[in-house]
Order: sequence, then C-alpha cells, then structure tokens
Amino acid sequence: MTAHFEITTRSPEETQQLGWRLGELAKPGDIFFLVGKLGAGKTCLTQGIAKGLGITDSVLSPSFVLVRELKGRLPLYHADLYRLDNLREISELGLDEYLYGHGLTVIEWADKGLDVLPDEYLLIAIDYGEGDERRLKLTAHGKRYEELLMRLKNKR
Ligand code: ADP
Ligand code: MG
Repeated sequence: MTAHFEITTRSPEETQQLGWRLGELAKPGDIFFLVGKLGAGKTCLTQGIAKGLGITDSVLSPSFVLVRELKGRLPLYHADLYRLDNLREISELGLDEYLYGHGLTVIEWADKGLDVLPDEYLLIAIDYGEGDERRLKLTAHGKRYEELLMRLKNKR
C-alpha cells in the first residue's frame, strides 16, 4: 500500500501542477491538511488544487475570512487556521458542515487543530529547500488516501 509520496518542486508552477493532479483525483468528502511555515506554498498548492477541480475563481489566502467556498466539479472549502489561537476557536468555526459535506476541504495550518479535526485525511507537509525548491511530503491517514496516493503515483 502506498502511504507516502514525496516530491521536490522547483517553482510555484510545479507546485501548482501537483495541486492540479490532486484536484483531479479528489472525491466528495475528501480532506487535505496542509502544514508548513509561512510562505512554504500552502496557498500556492491550493491554487493548483482549485484548477484541478475546474475552478476559475482565484484562490486567495483565506486568512481573514477563515473559510472560503469555491464552486467547481466539487465545491472546494478552503480554510486557514493561522489566525486562530486555541482549539475552542477552531471547534467553534463550524468546520464540520464542510468536513462532512460533499466537497473537498483543504485546511492550511491544520496542525493547529488536529485534536478537534477528523482522523482520516491526506497530510501534505511542505518544507523549504534551496532557493525556490520546496519538498512536499504526502502521507495518507486512512485507506481512501492510500488509494489517492496510489493513483497520484500511477498518473505521472
Ligand atoms: P503559504 O500559504 O504556505 O504561506 P504561499 O503559497 O502563500 O505560502 O506562498 C508561497 C510563496 O513562495 C509564493 O510567493 C511563491 O511564489 C513562492 N515560491 C517559490 N518557489 C515555490 C515553489 N517551488 N512552490 C510554491 N511556492 C513557491
Ligand atoms: Mg497560505
């Protein structure tokens, strides 16, 4: 079973291409958690995911609105926990209606809320490399995401 997938990208475009493939593979109810420092590329990856879902609206950093909903092949629920300081604020956000809905939920800074979030998800950790390099590590938490990673690998 494919539980991990690693890739190094060398430009924002390459990161978006990976996002594009993930968006194409997404199914209703899928959940992606994005973690990594500020400027790592979480929003950039989400822009690609949106394109893969056929979304033409632009993906902005949702830091100020916390959750944005965009319409595509599946709805994309894009959340960002950066500005939230505690688990109570996160549980009060009302994310459940998205997480258990029929779209794809993408949460930036999900590591801040792991204790109150579902335990099956695709974890995408982004680290800085040299210059414009970014190392992306995808880890499946749950069978659905093992299947998704297997498809991602076979697609390249
Ligand atoms: P985050 O949401 O993680 O804070 P953003 O996606 O908003 O980060 O910003 C990433 C920044 O890094 C952008 O300015 C983008 O142009 C730049 N960048 C440089 N190289 C890459 C790369 N390989 N992948 C993604 N972003 C990159
Ligand atoms: Mg961001």
